[in-house]
Amino acid sequence: MGYRCVQCSFPIKSLYVQYSPGNIRLMKCENCKAVADEYIECEIMILVIDLILHKPKAYRHLLYNVINQQTLMFKGLFWKLAFVFLLFDTYKCLVLESSKGKLGSPSMSFSSLMSTCWKMLIDVFFGNFMFLLTFFIMSKIFLHTSFSISRCNDLLFALMISGYFKIFLIAMTVWEFPSSVIFIIELFCLSSNAVALKVMTESTMSRCVWACFSAYAIKLFVTQILDLTFWGQLIQGWSQTPSSFSLKPS
Ligand SMILES: [Zn+2]
Repeated sequence: MGYRCVQCSFPIKSLYVQYSPGNIRLMKCENCKAVADEYIECEIMILVIDLILHKPKAYRHLLYNVINQQTLMFKGLFWKLAFVFLLFDTYKCLVLESSKGKLGSPSMSFSSLMSTCWKMLIDVFFGNFMFLLTFFIMSKIFLHTSFSISRCNDLLFALMISGYFKIFLIAMTVWEFPSSVIFIIELFCLSSNAVALKVMTESTMSRCVWACFSAYAIKLFVTQILDLTFWGQLIQGWSQTPSSFSLKPS
């Protein structure tokens, strides 16, 4: 992906001309005649506020002009983002399990603790696999995007970058919040993902919302089904071999 005008998404060769250190001139877009990317001279806080306000031009600046995927930095950043993304998801599962009272109980045995950790890992990996599968299928159906590796990489990258709201989960490690806050964060991530998808595909907002909503709904459904089957099997295991699965302290 090359540089784009943040106003109309028209491809542009360069964003500015540098005459001397600190002395630059912003380029104008050939299509809309406006300054191609005014965020270059803006404070970072203005960009952050515009991202929170879901302004498409802020997303264009971030996805096309800041993170240039043709540089070597992209590959490293991609895997780091994927790791952080999965880490936040694991933490989210941890908070939800704690809120159900399945973790942190003093009477919890080592085997049930391991079972819960195993279940959380399955939730995170299988849930995200189904999320991505649904997201790409829905993008193909609603937005007619191609299934090429580079296109899938671009969309995946946009998904991870626009999921920046997950950073608010860090606040939950410091202050106590009700677990319902997680669903508010997920809702913000959904809307942010939809704007990023709109910017990447230039499709209508309603189609992008549907593609993202389907992926989130399938992920929730899969984790709920896993929850029921996993705990059902565990309870069955307890009833068959009560001594090995006992939650009571010995
Ligand atoms: Zn333009």
